[in-house]
Amino acid sequence: MSVIRFLRGIIKPYIIVFKHAISKPHTIKYPYERLMFSDGYRGRISLRFEKCIGCGLCSRTCPNRAIEMVEIEGEKHSFPQINFGRCSFCCLCVDVCPRGALFSDEVVELSVIKRDDLIYHPYKLSNPQPLESILKDLKKTITVQIEDGRLSYTLLRRREENV
Ligand code: SF4
Ligand code: SF4
Repeated sequence: MSVIRFLRGIIKPYIIVFKHAISKPHTIKYPYERLMFSDGYRGRISLRFEKCIGCGLCSRTCPNRAIEMVEIEGEKHSFPQINFGRCSFCCLCVDVCPRGALFSDEVVELSVIKRDDLIYHPYKLSNPQPLESILKDLKKTITVQIEDGRLSYTLLRRREENV
């Protein structure tokens, strides 16, 4: 009996290793592949420039004082400028905006070399850089589902020129 238990103890780890060796990976190859988040994900904040009325409610609501209202030459009112170095992505500014001028998307790739580059002028806020131009090596975007405790991936988009 103890011999069987002994042999089982030796064989069992090999079986586990073999199972994992032939199963699909649970990780993705970022930045060549990227998971897309669910609707309502709080990522980068952007501005619909033409909708903003310059009321400043977003700036006054921001708990981190990340929004400054700035004047723009030739415009009748000021516009929000966001310092993403201070932003906690709470999206209170999005919720409070009476015109729906602010919105958040699923982009989280905001890292920069210089801290000042985290300050987004209204023009930069209203021209959000597409994900594909931030992640130049991106080939696939993927969603993930968990069913019965198992992960499964669904391919959303494939960048043809890189495949
Ligand atoms: S998401 Fe929150 S912290 Fe960031 S700018 Fe808006 S209100 Fe401020
Ligand atoms: S973005 Fe919205 S809340 Fe902020 S100033 Fe413009 S209209 Fe007002």
